[in-house]
Amino acid sequence: MTTGVAVTGPALRKALGRFVSGVTVVTTGSGSGDDVHGMTANAFTSVSLDPPLVLVSIATKARMDAKIAENGRYGVSILCREQEPVSLHFAGGTPCPERVRFVERGGVPLLDGALVHLACSVVDSHPAGDHTLHVGRVDELWSCHGDPLVFFTGTFRALEIVREDAPWGF
Ligand code: FAD
Repeated sequence: MTTGVAVTGPALRKALGRFVSGVTVVTTGSGSGDDVHGMTANAFTSVSLDPPLVLVSIATKARMDAKIAENGRYGVSILCREQEPVSLHFAGGTPCPERVRFVERGGVPLLDGALVHLACSVVDSHPAGDHTLHVGRVDELWSCHGDPLVFFTGTFRALEIVREDAPWGF
């Protein structure tokens, strides 16, 4: 049975943590120099296929927010199951510099070994409470097969298939 609770920050965080997501590392910078910055984000979503748009929701207090605004471009690396240590690294948790390697693609830095790479140009940035929604046009993409890293109730998980013959499978 569900119970009504007051809409406080912790209650909202707990409830929305039950919406399962993948995990990305958002990156920005020239891709070649010391100006590369990365951060872990699961508030990433597809927005439109035509034109091809995605968005990332970045806390205004995160260093990444000002850096995306300054550069006007960002990369999204969708992490594979084996990259859980990398996701912690880019969330300010346990560092694992030995697992961090950037590749430059489409003029943005991206994280080596990810399932998908998107190179995006910012087309709109909307202030939204304590976050900014950075809408990006996908200029180029690269994708490979593998299992995703999954985030649910604040813990990292692996995916389990319950039905393989869905008609919209892609
Ligand atoms: P910092 O905290 O300074 O950097 C983040 C980490 O990345 C640091 O440890 C830093 O050393 C490392 N790093 C950065 N650049 C490099 C580099 N070039 N080489 C090596 N290491 C580097 N926050 C949101 O705003 N939106 C979200 O959607 C979101 N989703 C999250 C999902 C998960 C699963 C987790 C665990 C956290 C999420 N966060 C999200 C929180 C966010 O990842 C952290 O608050 C992060 O620390 C903010 O980064 P920052 O830009 O302030 O930079």
